[in-house]
Amino acid sequence: MTAEPSTMGMLDRYAEHAGADAIEQLRQLAGLLTGLKVVHVNSTRRGGGVAEILETMVPLMQALGLDASWEVIEGNEDFFACTKSFHNTLQGKMLDISPSLLRAYEEVNAANAERLRPVLKAADIVIIHDPQPAPLLSHCPERRGKWIWRCHIDLSHPYRPVWKYLRRFLLDYDASIFSLDAFAQPMPHPVYLIPPSIDPLTEKNLPLDPATARRVLEEFSIDPERPVLLQISRFDRFKDPLGVIQAYRLAKEFVPSLQLVLAGGSAADDPEGQTVVMDVRESAEGDPDIHVLSSGHYSDQTINSLQTGADIVLQKSLREGFGLTVTEAMWKGKPVIGGNTGGIRLQLVNHETGFLVDTPEGAALRIRYLLAERSRIGQIGEKAREFVRQNFLRTRHLREYMTLMVALTHGNADRIELG
Ligand code: UDP
Repeated sequence: MTAEPSTMGMLDRYAEHAGADAIEQLRQLAGLLTGLKVVHVNSTRRGGGVAEILETMVPLMQALGLDASWEVIEGNEDFFACTKSFHNTLQGKMLDISPSLLRAYEEVNAANAERLRPVLKAADIVIIHDPQPAPLLSHCPERRGKWIWRCHIDLSHPYRPVWKYLRRFLLDYDASIFSLDAFAQPMPHPVYLIPPSIDPLTEKNLPLDPATARRVLEEFSIDPERPVLLQISRFDRFKDPLGVIQAYRLAKEFVPSLQLVLAGGSAADDPEGQTVVMDVRESAEGDPDIHVLSSGHYSDQTINSLQTGADIVLQKSLREGFGLTVTEAMWKGKPVIGGNTGGIRLQLVNHETGFLVDTPEGAALRIRYLLAERSRIGQIGEKAREFVRQNFLRTRHLREYMTLMVALTHGNADRIELG
């Protein structure tokens, strides 16, 4: 299969951001996978991280000559109620799921298997994303290809009864992929760790002209002439917004011109989130230099503008899987002060590409240091961007998927040579 000129253009555009070497590596791996039928299956075409990844991953695979496709299973209300409960319980919530919801889960998978069987049977590689379509394999006993279960959620402390139920659908897979070591569970097949990534070609991550970033800051009454600290996150206790305010206050004693922006999605459907917003507003009261932006999910362009316009970005989480906002800010050349927890430890190198902190006092110290030595902001930011370029762009994510595919499809070869 030869790539269309338009998709060749797509590879060139990635090369502009990820570097020509990253694309060359992809082409070498792809040489061993030409025409390979790869089918991704998830449960939604739009919304959420998995769909966002597949939206670019599948065309990239096609551009490299793989015969890649993306199927979406169709469910009913009970099915999605069940899988939502899976999501919560697998990430630690203790809740039993009713037999009727579990029945809906199994029936929906059986019905989808009928519809998808020809595609799944013909595939060389099937990548099943998350628990929703996991039982499809049990309906394809005559499978030809290798099946991979790709888990995007934090399985470090699952509610055991639910995990035990789900695990039996996964036993026959050929491999599993988790995002981080801490998220993985033991499986009876090889387990691979592939961290998430950001896409350099989305509106959130493309270089933005400084005038636009400035205009957006001014629209929110933020003064672009004075130093700006930014944390973008849902209003959630684990993101520690009150700790961020404390750090800002400690630093402001030494840098009176400092401003703080806390921006996050709407908390309308999350009662706990609303309480956190109220606590944040109360804590910020009386300080016109604290900007709490909590009205709605901000657009890619707004997020990009805030990240581009900030001097220092905080992600002072107390618990975090992989904090996308950390990588997004580093990609914009910003020094990030992150909580010393979870995936953030992997995302930045302490003192080199940012700072890891355990307390508001620690964060305040780093803020003061950076604002006193402004040249360090640029130096750290430059290293941060390069670190993301090498480790956390979509192209690295794809390289690891393709390496795994080479291993699974050439596993018996004495030697594997890249062209
Ligand atoms: N985000 C956004 N608009 C908002 C708030 C957040 O687009 O108003 C994005 C943010 O840029 C990031 C994602 O939502 O890409 C949040 O992911 P992260 O891993 O940082 O945190 P999570 O919410 O998954 O814990």
